[in-house]
Amino acid sequence: MSVFRPDRLPSLNRLPKELGREERFCEACGEPNLHILYQVPKKVIFVYFKDHPGNVHATCIKCALSTVLTGEERARALSLIKARTEPSGSL
Ligand SMILES: [Zn+2]
Repeated sequence: MSVFRPDRLPSLNRLPKELGREERFCEACGEPNLHILYQVPKKVIFVYFKDHPGNVHATCIKCALSTVLTGEERARALSLIKARTEPSGSL
């Protein structure tokens, strides 16, 4: 059993959280590549806000270019983590 539990360490709350991965078109590469979707907390004075426009990034695994997801793309990325944390299957 692992003692290391990032979710339980407040000091790590500011670290970007991986939402999932998906194939996206990368403008820098000029081709579709696998991107890692992140939710990035934003620090305002002393408080980190998890939910702010522009807190979801997609990072290309090939060139490391980060893109801020907006609108539908952002909503879809956030729904990925919801789908992961909610119990699957019927009870
Ligand atoms: Zn790229």
